[in-house]
Amino acid sequence: MTTAPTSDSTRRRQVVIVGSGFGGLFAAQRLRKAKNVDVTLIAKSTTHLFQPMLYQLATGIVAEGEIAPATRVVLEKQKNTRTLLGEVYDVDVEKQVVYSQLLERVTETPYDDLIIAAGADQSYFGNDHFAEYAPGMKTIDHALELRGRILGAFEQAELSDDPAEQEKLMTFVVVGAGPTGVEMAGQIAEMSDKTLKNAFRNIDPTKARVILLDAAPAVLAPFGPKLGTKAAKRLEKLGVEIQLDAMVVDLDYDGLVVRDKDGTERRIESQCKVWSAGVQASGLGEVLRDKTGVELDRAGRVKVGPDLTVAGHRNIFVVGDMMAVDGVPGVAQGAIQGGRYAADAILAEIKRGQTPDERKPFKYFDKGSMATVSRFSAVMQVPIPGTKKKFETEGYFAWLGWLALHLVYLVGYRNRLNTLVNWFFSFTTRGRTQLAITEQQVYARSALQELSYLERLRLSAAERDREDPVAVAKALEKSVEDDTPEAKQA
Ligand SMILES: Cc1cc2nc3c(=O)[nH]c(=O)nc-3n(C[C@H](O)[C@H](O)[C@H](O)COP(=O)(O)OP(=O)(O)OC[C@H]3O[C@@H](n4cnc5c(N)ncnc54)[C@H](O)[C@@H]3O)c2cc1C
Repeated sequence: MTTAPTSDSTRRRQVVIVGSGFGGLFAAQRLRKAKNVDVTLIAKSTTHLFQPMLYQLATGIVAEGEIAPATRVVLEKQKNTRTLLGEVYDVDVEKQVVYSQLLERVTETPYDDLIIAAGADQSYFGNDHFAEYAPGMKTIDHALELRGRILGAFEQAELSDDPAEQEKLMTFVVVGAGPTGVEMAGQIAEMSDKTLKNAFRNIDPTKARVILLDAAPAVLAPFGPKLGTKAAKRLEKLGVEIQLDAMVVDLDYDGLVVRDKDGTERRIESQCKVWSAGVQASGLGEVLRDKTGVELDRAGRVKVGPDLTVAGHRNIFVVGDMMAVDGVPGVAQGAIQGGRYAADAILAEIKRGQTPDERKPFKYFDKGSMATVSRFSAVMQVPIPGTKKKFETEGYFAWLGWLALHLVYLVGYRNRLNTLVNWFFSFTTRGRTQLAITEQQVYARSALQELSYLERLRLSAAERDREDPVAVAKALEKSVEDDTPEAKQA
């Protein structure tokens, strides 16, 4: 075990941040000028990922580096901050130490203040085995795997002369009609209709079927019926089949079984499935629950107090997708504002000696929400100040607004420039520059899961052996006896 180096942990205040997403990075940046403070940002990924553009990575519009700059480079000029790679797996709230692991190396990082912004994972609502055949959309690996699966399905269809097999390969099912599902379905439809239209000889990619499924009765439910209906119509115009009130009850390599509202079950043959149906907060919430007794909601989010801290631990903040706060949705702005609030609370204590009881409660400022449907089409909802009403619009101007806003929040000037060039190329020519796929993208996740399963087996066998050395010695003796020529002959 190693202890994370600190400048001078006896004098300088140690702020540890878990996660390099919106909550973590914006909290760290807020602390850049803090005097006598060391900030340590620990994340299990080396990048700050801009999740709202993952669907563009999955469908070949942008490259991973453009939406995920290296966190340590983003923070390189922030001299009071160090970035550590590692998965945080435990927090000792008494000793005030965070434990993280990278390969076999365990690192202990002491803290005075802790900001946890570890985000959320995909939820399969208790059917975790669905993940094997229907990747979610939470990480770069997911998006690249999906790109490989989508384009790989077309490649396999090109090689097949069996119409039923071709149909299965060219049927893409997106589960979940929220913003991510809508974006994915729209982009797969556009990619097959436009980008790939003339690229194959044996198949016609424009005949690909794209199905958008949801157990709920509406598309883009959080945007309300007006914008949801408009988005659905636009998708249908692109050729996307929308199936609502349709719950996935089983899923395998070749397809999925769907139960309709009337209880009938039917099967859809489809090799490429995308899961964008639900989220589950990071498992670190459970660690905090076990250590502090804090409550979690059904999605595993931590029920924090008005100052975003854990009850009885006013130096542990939980922000972003991991926090459960009424009226704060799991969106980038919720995480950014939460991260900045936590950093400001720490700064106020350092600069003005503000006590936790003097903190003003966190107040979320709703700047509105947006989702793209396709090229030149998006929906947008912005609250009208001083009222409870929202301004709603859709179409071209909403789409331009989406582009502008996402460029503003993308980190790094070069990334913005590259993205602009890619967008210009993609939206004017309908071409996509990022269509490279590799076998690793498609198979690495399953291979890694298999490896980690084998490793767990090995560790539990080793544990068992340690507990009962006599039984192990006897088993060894027996295996030697069984190995003698006489025993083999017998
Ligand atoms: C596909 C998709 C599209 C989206 N589109 C939009 C949109 O258009 N607009 C919008 O406002 N929001 C959108 N969101 C939601 C938005 O991205 C999230 O609300 C936001 O990223 C939450 O920020 P966060 O900091 O809480 O978590 P994240 O950004 O998820 O960051 C979590 C960080 O924690 C790290 N981490 C996790 N577990 C550990 C651990 N145990 N140890 C160490 N590090 C850990 C991760 O590596 C990561 O760095 C979208 C999300 C997705 C997935």
